[in-house]
Amino acid sequence: MLHRLKRGLYRHRWLLMRRIVQISILLAFIVAIPGYGKIADGNLSSSLWFEQLKLTDPFILLQSFFAGSPIALPALMGAILVGGFYAFLAGRLYCSWVCPINLLTDLAYWLRKRLNIKGNMNLSRHLRLWILALSLVLSFLGGTLAWEIVNPITRFQRELIWFSLSGAMLLGALFLFDLFVSRRAWCGHLCPVGAFYGILGRYGRLKVTSTPTESCDTRGCSRCVAVCPEPHVLAPVVSKQALSVTSSDCTRCGACLDECSEGVLSMKIDLVGMANRKADD
Ligand code: SF4
Ligand code: SF4
Repeated sequence: MLHRLKRGLYRHRWLLMRRIVQISILLAFIVAIPGYGKIADGNLSSSLWFEQLKLTDPFILLQSFFAGSPIALPALMGAILVGGFYAFLAGRLYCSWVCPINLLTDLAYWLRKRLNIKGNMNLSRHLRLWILALSLVLSFLGGTLAWEIVNPITRFQRELIWFSLSGAMLLGALFLFDLFVSRRAWCGHLCPVGAFYGILGRYGRLKVTSTPTESCDTRGCSRCVAVCPEPHVLAPVVSKQALSVTSSDCTRCGACLDECSEGVLSMKIDLVGMANRKADD
């Protein structure tokens, strides 16, 4: 029994770690510790941690810049801190380890599989880049943070504290669209925040890396591809053209690592691009 539990936990270790991090971050904004208060004030767009550390979403700062708003030094420093972290490791770490919408869209995808929903409207992955560009153009033209008017990420955080019908309807529509209309529609095709973090972390050093071993006699079994929220990123690895995932669309969710029982995949900090250099040899 204990053995089965341990195996189950190990089998979903990356998912569990992600959920712990995501939910802890959400709780930091909501739960007050007796005698101290809340660990974080604000929301993921702009927050103050431990009453000292100011963090700013760099995409918010970029919209402010386009909107022509004055940029305060603490906000700029906070954005450099956050941006530097994601640029060094991987931009879309934000998606799978921080963003609360990922909880909703992962749930929609899980339900989609359970209910065996096959219908899938084809959407281009590039749509999110167009929406990103449009957000910046509208910020410029309107002199306002255009994406923040609808941003479901801040809506989600707000809904947890102050329920509103419009917020619930927006999040419900997003969930139902992912569930019934198009597979991984929001995070995989439409969200400009994910697109922004993808660009920011284009050269991030945290990579899913393949270590070909004796035990992997079915290299190309593609089970990792089947669970990946951005399946195209694994194509070069399963076709043996690369030893690591280089696409900035990879969210470093670790689903592929959980799925690969052969232990062929690992998550590594690759400072000098050694993994793919070896593949070229
Ligand atoms: S794609 Fe957008 S909504 Fe989805 S997890 Fe990333 S930032 Fe959040
Ligand atoms: S390659 Fe692995 S870590 Fe990257 S998005 Fe796909 S499943 Fe997640």
